[in-house]
Amino acid sequence: MTDANARRAAQLLHHRKAGLTPGEPIAPPIVPATTFHLPANGTGANGYSRAGTPGWTELEAQLSLLEEAETVVFPSGMAAIAAALFACLKAGDRVILPADGYYVTRVLATEFLAGLGVEAQMLATRDYDSADLGGAALVYIETPSNPGLDVCDIAAIAARARAAGARVVVDNTTMTPFLQRPLDLGADLVVAADTKAPGGHSDLLAGHVAGRDAALMARVRDWRRLSGATLGPFEAWLLHRGLETLELRLERMCASARFIAERLAAHGAVRDLRYPGLPGDPSHRMVGGQMANGGFLIGFTLADAGVAERFLSACPYLAQSTSFGATHSSAERRARWGDAVPEGFLRLSVGIEPVEELWRGIEGALAG
Ligand SMILES: *Cc1c(COP(=O)(O)O)cnc(C)c1O
Repeated sequence: MTDANARRAAQLLHHRKAGLTPGEPIAPPIVPATTFHLPANGTGANGYSRAGTPGWTELEAQLSLLEEAETVVFPSGMAAIAAALFACLKAGDRVILPADGYYVTRVLATEFLAGLGVEAQMLATRDYDSADLGGAALVYIETPSNPGLDVCDIAAIAARARAAGARVVVDNTTMTPFLQRPLDLGADLVVAADTKAPGGHSDLLAGHVAGRDAALMARVRDWRRLSGATLGPFEAWLLHRGLETLELRLERMCASARFIAERLAAHGAVRDLRYPGLPGDPSHRMVGGQMANGGFLIGFTLADAGVAERFLSACPYLAQSTSFGATHSSAERRARWGDAVPEGFLRLSVGIEPVEELWRGIEGALAG
């Protein structure tokens, strides 16, 4: 781990300390109040909870430490993505979106932004490094892409986008701020689904937008208040708790993913293994620089849909569910959602199970 990550991880666990007065709780309280005492002149830290509430303040303090930027929390990753898109785009603009990125982002653009006069252009993640970005108002990046795990060079694209007059938004969900830092690489905004690894227990939806341009972040904050896309106090509290163990969980998850990826790559039943952390992987060029390590997601292909489904049912340590980044390992056959992948392609999200036991379960299930 870098010194900077170590400092951020430690500070995150103590961020409330400086503001505490004797007798106050160390863990933040849950405040479900919608209204706050607001006499005469109408000013106070909080007034009405659509505009602000103590749970967001605590959570945004943690996330701002992690991102080293202003952050605004949202009730889901998609709510954060919508806020970033609406804050950046207007009629007549063109946005470049990853053809192999999160599917719902593309549908939001084609179903809703198109009707408001914003043109969406789809581009494969592996083509971002060479594509002409001219004429776009916004370049939206997701690297590594999901589920294909292709990568592109955020710093180089951000420099070219800036020269062409475009803003850059990066969906950093698959990496988190501990593993990849798009704002340091020149992105204007980072968006993330905290539903995944930051929440980490498959029991809450949340998201955030982070950025260092105060005027742009003010628009993101206004969007939350005006659209009403607000995170509930209980979810805010759960995410605050989840973030306290994020660095610890990631350390186990990423080390285990590398261990599992090496063994899967050497297994006779497994084809086309993708894990950016393995030296032979096409995405490995970004590991050690842009990406701190290969992450916790693995893609691989089994013979056909039937073999893949039998493997998922047989493995005692794989939750058969969509989504990723939880304490428990999970996997799914992505073709069931219509992704452009082979029928036997699986996305595996490696959890925090002791890795030797996890591998025993996976190996046993592969043996059928
Ligand atoms: C899950 C996910 C989202 C959406 O997050 P929700 O919390 O489900 O709205 C966006 N981008 C990526 C890369 C995701 O994996």
